[in-house]
Amino acid sequence: MEIEQAPRRTPMPFSRRKLDRRAVDVLKRLQEAGHETYFVGGCVRDLLLGRQPKDFDLATSASPNQVRRLFRRSRIIGRRFKLVHVYAGRQVYEVATFRSAPEEAIGEEVQVIRDDNTFGTAREDALRRDFRVNGLFLDPVASEIVDWVDGLADIRNRRLSAIGDPLRRFQEDPVRILRLVKFMRRLGLEPGEAEVAAAQEVAPLLVESAPPRVVEEVFRLALTGDLAGVLEDLTALEVLHLVLPDLAGWLERGGDRFDLLVARVERLDEWIRDGGEPSYGLRLAMLYGPFVEEELRPEGRTVQARDGASVPSVVFSALQRRARLPRAVLNRATRILQAQARMDPALDFRKRRRRRSAPDWMLQQDFFAEALECLRCRLEADGRELDLYDEWHERALFMEDRPG
Ligand code: ATP
Ligand code: MG
Repeated sequence: MEIEQAPRRTPMPFSRRKLDRRAVDVLKRLQEAGHETYFVGGCVRDLLLGRQPKDFDLATSASPNQVRRLFRRSRIIGRRFKLVHVYAGRQVYEVATFRSAPEEAIGEEVQVIRDDNTFGTAREDALRRDFRVNGLFLDPVASEIVDWVDGLADIRNRRLSAIGDPLRRFQEDPVRILRLVKFMRRLGLEPGEAEVAAAQEVAPLLVESAPPRVVEEVFRLALTGDLAGVLEDLTALEVLHLVLPDLAGWLERGGDRFDLLVARVERLDEWIRDGGEPSYGLRLAMLYGPFVEEELRPEGRTVQARDGASVPSVVFSALQRRARLPRAVLNRATRILQAQARMDPALDFRKRRRRRSAPDWMLQQDFFAEALECLRCRLEADGRELDLYDEWHERALFMEDRPG
């Protein structure tokens, strides 16, 4: 049996008012029923870094059934690993039972985690997490940070290190490499040399990770507000050609392609920082825009498309086969890019130009607002005048004003 080591306990260095009141109520109810319970993961990290957490997750010694019985408005979710969703007001809080890392593989071979289903102690639950900054626990009743992983030191020094050996941890789950990039860029944390070296070494294993998990993290990367930086990191870590091979292949053709793409996504980043919330479809469209636009030209086209209009869907179906992206996301990205070709005469490479499709039709589509946003980002990034954007914007306003 493993001897339980004591964690380092530090007074909570921020005001209680930063905590979600309802989440604290849920936590207290669990503690009062005799279950060891903490806030865990991203919320503790964000609070310590002075950021507002997205959501407050709880971890507890209570089993899912015990949690379920304590809260009338709750339900057990998940097949593989069961969690409880506790509803309070309009909010939902995720309560997970402490779990341990899966059995360590014997000998040198590190196994990829496929089944992480065993309940454990609070300490084990901290140790199974990916990065030290993500392994901190918070007890708001005792007003303490509970640290089994030396996470506070990393917070203080703005460092990003793995819990345990980075090579082993990335081999267990290569998706952690994408998470490394996400936390570096989103939180401005500096990874250790060992982490960077391990990420480079293990990156090829990413192709074996479940595509939906990879895709989920890629999209989260596209939300960091520093997609330009993310692209640089993914290229430097030689990961881009593994997760988005067609895009990486296009970038490898060189010229000013990388700068062009970075300028485009910087516009999207700016918009996100101003509070914009691009859909996955728009993010994908921005990322693939320059590549698709180049493929619209009949000469030098590399994808097997009949004509320009079918280029976006051909490109995205190839991605769908690899990444099993949700249809709706791909459809939206396709529509947004097709709309660019309709709105922007600079993208019309047809020999005999036919009449442009009726603007009214476009204005009525549910993707129009995002297509317009995409147009603006493209014009700005490419250093073009915004007249074209203004024109379409005015049409949209005019349409709204019209009765009926
Ligand atoms: P975000 O702000 O993007 O949601 P997060 O840190 O909250 O970041 P989640 O994916 O929501 O990340 O996961 C919550 C917590 O679960 C993490 O903080 C981490 O402790 C743990 N975790 C998530 N993914 C992994 C993983 N692949 N390996 C180990 N621990 C993980
Ligand atoms: Mg989270």
